Amino acid sequence: MDFNDTPAEAAFRKEAHDFLSKHLELKSGAKPRQANESALARAKAWQKTKAENKFAQITWPKEWGGRGGTSMEAVIWGQEEAKFDAPTGPFAIGLGMCIPTVIAFGSDEHKKRYVQKALHGEEIWCQLFSEPSAGSDVAGLKTKAVKDGDEWVINGQKVWTSGAHYSDFGILLVRTNPKVPKHKGLTMFIVNMKQPGVEVRPIHQASGGREFNEVYFTDVRIPDSDRLGAVGDGWKVALVTLMNERLAVGGSPGPDWGEIMDYAKTAGTMDDQAFREKLADWYVAAQGYKLTKFRTQTALSRGQTPGPENSIGKIITANHLQDICNSAIEMQDHYGIITETDRMPADAIFQQSFMWAPGLRIAGGTDEILKNIIAERVLGLPQDVRVDKDLAFDEMKSG
Ligand SMILES: Cc1cc2nc3c(=O)[nH]c(=O)nc-3n(C[C@H](O)[C@H](O)[C@H](O)COP(=O)(O)OP(=O)(O)OC[C@H]3O[C@@H](n4cnc5c(N)ncnc54)[C@H](O)[C@@H]3O)c2cc1C
Repeated sequence: MDFNDTPAEAAFRKEAHDFLSKHLELKSGAKPRQANESALARAKAWQKTKAENKFAQITWPKEWGGRGGTSMEAVIWGQEEAKFDAPTGPFAIGLGMCIPTVIAFGSDEHKKRYVQKALHGEEIWCQLFSEPSAGSDVAGLKTKAVKDGDEWVINGQKVWTSGAHYSDFGILLVRTNPKVPKHKGLTMFIVNMKQPGVEVRPIHQASGGREFNEVYFTDVRIPDSDRLGAVGDGWKVALVTLMNERLAVGGSPGPDWGEIMDYAKTAGTMDDQAFREKLADWYVAAQGYKLTKFRTQTALSRGQTPGPENSIGKIITANHLQDICNSAIEMQDHYGIITETDRMPADAIFQQSFMWAPGLRIAGGTDEILKNIIAERVLGLPQDVRVDKDLAFDEMKSG
């Protein structure tokens, strides 16, 4: 199989690289994740520049401000942008998951109102699915919406909502009918995050960062016209969002076997037999993942949609990230607890990423849930037992 670019792909790669070189610096070492005000302003400015130059969403149709490009061009853009210090974080959820859901299920008015502003970095979106007792089993959520004339009244609580504190809008999954089985009584809405009754409370992380939040809804009113999909069809709408989420979180960055090998050379650990065995394991897994990604790229280049095997990427990368960072910190012995970026090797990325890796193993589907998907939908093994499948939601026992 030939993995080299075709002449047209090579030309697009050069165009993308030249554009990126004009506006950004190449990554030098791994940078720690930032989530402060100046990082947000920089991300908005970069998003605007991309949109004005038709690099913001490669595969979106031109009528929505996209480039009308191929899936392979989107892969190439992703590969090139990853080489640069590009601040894309705050837009990943909105443009990767929420807006594609609005495009798929929204009215023409919704598309006119929301798509361009999100694309140009003027408005940020968040995804309001998870609740304290509904994460992996998100269809078990309890936040309810009750119809009142032409509006719905929302009461309940969401949790782990990434970026809610700087978001303007969100897509909100709620229960509109508790008398039917859990998957059938859900409905999806667009919610204005700045309206009365929406309270965003920060969750402070062990890393010192603040990336996600609790969000409380008290008598929040949403017009029926801001519904996405039919009443009771929320699960169908959510599956489109979740499919996009798993594609988006597949290849998150962080130190890999190459970075820890470089560090081990300077630290004098390369002669340690136990370390060399680990390094060999990471290398072999990274090559396996690289070839699996080539399969995805081949499917895309043939116009096919990547399937559930895409879940493999996050399991491999997130677990290795945690393992690699743990080993690097062990190598640094008692200095390993120092997290200051200007005092530690590689800008303390091993420390910063060590704090982030467990979250990555949970976000967008935990290791166990992704293994279930691979078992059932890739390997064709029997399904998990689901005792509540046909039970009305309000007859289910909950603790
Ligand atoms: C960094 C980060 C960002 C996030 N951002 C968002 C966001 O923006 N919006 C949003 O809505 N949510 C977000 N989440 C929430 C995320 O979707 C949930 O945390 C995730 O789905 C797991 O749900 P839970 O935390 O309730 O854990 P639970 O579902 O309670 O799981 C607890 C444990 O049980 C295991 N388990 C559960 N069910 C099964 C099963 N059937 N078989 C085997 N094992 C099982 C799990 O693997 C896990 O180990 C985010 C989470 C993180 C970590």
